[in-house]
Amino acid sequence: MKSHLNIQKGGEKLPETINRSFKRKKRQALSVEDFVEAILNGDRIVLSQAITLVESNKAEHQTKAQQIVNACLPHSGKSIRVGITGTPGVGKSTFVESMGQHVTSLGRQLAVLAIDPTSQISHGSILGDKTRMENLSNNPNAFIRPSAAGESLGGVARKTRETIILCEAAGYDVIFVETVGVGQSEVAVHSMVDFFLLLLLPGGGDELQGIKRGVVEMADMIAINKADGDNLAKAKESRKAYRNGLHMFPPKNSNWTATAMTCSALKNTGIKEIWQTIQQYEQFTKKNDYFEDNRQHQAQYWLNETIRNELKARFETHNEVKNHFQTIQSRVQNGEITPFVGAERLMELFLKK
Ligand code: GDP
Repeated sequence: MKSHLNIQKGGEKLPETINRSFKRKKRQALSVEDFVEAILNGDRIVLSQAITLVESNKAEHQTKAQQIVNACLPHSGKSIRVGITGTPGVGKSTFVESMGQHVTSLGRQLAVLAIDPTSQISHGSILGDKTRMENLSNNPNAFIRPSAAGESLGGVARKTRETIILCEAAGYDVIFVETVGVGQSEVAVHSMVDFFLLLLLPGGGDELQGIKRGVVEMADMIAINKADGDNLAKAKESRKAYRNGLHMFPPKNSNWTATAMTCSALKNTGIKEIWQTIQQYEQFTKKNDYFEDNRQHQAQYWLNETIRNELKARFETHNEVKNHFQTIQSRVQNGEITPFVGAERLMELFLKK
C-alpha cells in the first residue's frame, strides 16, 4: 500500500489554486487525440473546450477543431435531435427546462444548444442570459451551451452542427436545438434536427404570433404552451383548430402527420405526453427509413450550402472581381450588356489564374 508521504512527490500536494492552474495549462496543450479521448469519455470540461475551438475563428483553432470533429464523427449520430422554436416569450426556456428535467429523469443525457440570429445585435444569447434554466444547468445529466454571439446565421449553423457531433460523441443521446422563431434560423435548425417542435400561445393564430406559414408547415408538432389557469380552455380550442388546420397541409416526406398538443411548461403538464409523441415519431420514422434518409439529405444540404457560401465569399472578396464589379454593374443597369454577359465577365475574372 502506498504511504501517504508519497503524495508529496510529483507536485500532487500543491495548494489547490496552483494545482488548478497546472491542470488548465495542461488542457490548453491537449493534442487532438487527447481531446477525442476525453470527449469519448464524456469529460464535460474538455467537451466545452472543444466547442470553444469549433466556435473560434482563428485558423489554427479551426484546423484543430476540424480534426477533432472528424475523429468524433464515427461516434456521433446516436441521438434524437429536436429543434424547438417559437417567438420570444412563448416559454421556450421554461419548456426546455421542464422537458429537460423529464428526459434526464428517464436516464437520458441531454445537450441543449441554441441558434440565435439576434445575438449579432444584442451580443447576448438566448440561453446565455437566462437564469431560469437554473435547475437544468445544475443537472449532471444535462449540458447547456449558448450559441456563439456576433456570428452570421451561416456561421452559427455550421458551428451548431459540429457541436451536435461533439455532444453525441460525448454520450448525449438527446439534443435540443433552440431558436427564436423570428427569421431564417428555423430553416437552418429544421435542416439539422430529426424532429421540429413549434411552440405557440393559446388564442391568436400563428400569423398573429408572428409565425410564418412556412414554419408551421415545417413543424412535426405544435405545442400550445401556457395551457394553465384561465388560458386552459383557450389552449384546448387552439389545439382543436391546429389539429384541423394541420390536416390541410400536404403530407410530409416522413409520412408523419403533424399533431397539436397542449402543455404548461410552468406547471409541468403535458410534458410527458409530448416526449412520448416524440418517441413515437422516432420509432415511426426509423421503421419507414425516413430517419436515416433525412439525415443523409441534411448532410447533402449542408455540403451544398457550405460550398455555395464559400464560393460566394471567395467571389465577393476576389480582388479582380471587386475592381470591376461597379463598372460591370453600371453597364448592366444602363442596358449596355445583359446580366448574363455581365455575370460571365465577372466569372472569367474570378476563374482567371
Ligand atoms: P422564451 O422567451 O420563449 O424563452 O420564454 P420564457 O421561457 O423566458 O418564458 C416567458 C415568460 O412566460 C416567463 O415569465 C415564464 O415564466 C412564462 N411561462 C413560460 N411557460 C409558461 C407556462 O406554461 N405557463 C405560464 N402561465 N407561464 C409560462
